[in-house]
Amino acid sequence: MEVQIGESKLMILEGDITQETTDAIVNAANSGLKGGGGVDGAIHRAGGPAIMEACRKIGYCPAGQAVITTGGNLKAKYVIHTVGPVYTGGGRNESKLLKSAYLESLKLASKKGLKSLSFPAISTGAYGYPVSEAARIALTTTLDYLKAHPDIESVRFVLFGKPTYDVFAEEMKKLNMQ
Ligand code: ADP
Repeated sequence: MEVQIGESKLMILEGDITQETTDAIVNAANSGLKGGGGVDGAIHRAGGPAIMEACRKIGYCPAGQAVITTGGNLKAKYVIHTVGPVYTGGGRNESKLLKSAYLESLKLASKKGLKSLSFPAISTGAYGYPVSEAARIALTTTLDYLKAHPDIESVRFVLFGKPTYDVFAEEMKKLNMQ
């Protein structure tokens, strides 16, 4: 499912983000940038040790912020590592931090002159964020950013499995984006 926003495209699809050919893929990292399970583990496995080496040099990234490294052996040239919030009910600034994780990743892509970017569904795995609410934040934040920043030509949400894809599709319809 795809929508046109000015000159830019926003797309949702089901897939494996490590196979993306966009300029950068976004990793749902932890603050220590130490790798782990889920999409983080998959990206490090597919991209090889150069990514971890770069992460070690950076050392730390707080929730809601983003850093960039090489893409190593990935098809994508860069990995943007952002840290989403751990969801503990919604009373600990989770929505602001999730919005910030998307926004800081987009800003970093612009700053680097990147044209295309792929996101996973940040915080919706081990970090427990309810998928529909996370999808709404992901989509509205990206939509608003693309309206103001046509330098980014394409943003893809690469969703792991049909259930997550279906929730994103539903939220996209609710936002009248489709
Ligand atoms: P977090 O700790 O931010 O919750 P997870 O990696 O546990 O991060 O989960 C975030 C999302 O990434 C989940 O929807 C999970 O299903 C998804 N995911 C896991 N592996 C991949 C992959 N290879 N490509 C895209 N998404 C993935």
